[in-house]
Amino acid sequence: MRWLRIERVLGLSCPLCGAPLDRPGLCIRCTNTLRAGRRHNLVFLGRYREYRRVVRALKFRGGRALVPPLARALAEGVREAGWDVEAVTAVPTTWWRIWRRGYNPAELLGRAIARELGVPYRRVLGRRYFRSQTRRPADLRASLPAGIFYLRRELPERRWLLVDDVWTTGATFRAVERALRAGGAEAVWGAVIAARRSS
Ligand SMILES: [Zn+2]
Repeated sequence: MRWLRIERVLGLSCPLCGAPLDRPGLCIRCTNTLRAGRRHNLVFLGRYREYRRVVRALKFRGGRALVPPLARALAEGVREAGWDVEAVTAVPTTWWRIWRRGYNPAELLGRAIARELGVPYRRVLGRRYFRSQTRRPADLRASLPAGIFYLRRELPERRWLLVDDVWTTGATFRAVERALRAGGAEAVWGAVIAARRSS
């Protein structure tokens, strides 16, 4: 299960438009038309409806081929926004998810965006595990338990880009932003693949 390849699950097709592919990734047409939108302090590539299969594909090993075009388009959106980003980090997932999957897709994307922007990627955040009180995914709840995210080290930079795969209610983003600001961050912007609803 750990290394289940995405094409066995979804077939080898473009996860955005469904066109048949001869290698994993996005089709040329989708690659060339990816463009980040912007809402307040967030850049994103599209609605969750359209990007659901892209987000899902990124959680599988074959989905890594999707990272470079997504990162290029998001980095371009950050440059267009004129944000003076000094460093990039990603929303951390729990250790057991990394163990099952082998990596954190948000971190993979964050590292690629940092390379595009020419700034460092820093693994500065940790995530505590809390036993869920409801069966709803953490992101759909209005707020997360206090202290769920924490800083693993002092922040070497002040202006951060925070990367995640999906923006749902913003609860995750706000919780991470609180941790970064408590550590001295002066600005926190966000970059995600898909936004689930308008804020
Ligand atoms: Zn396509």
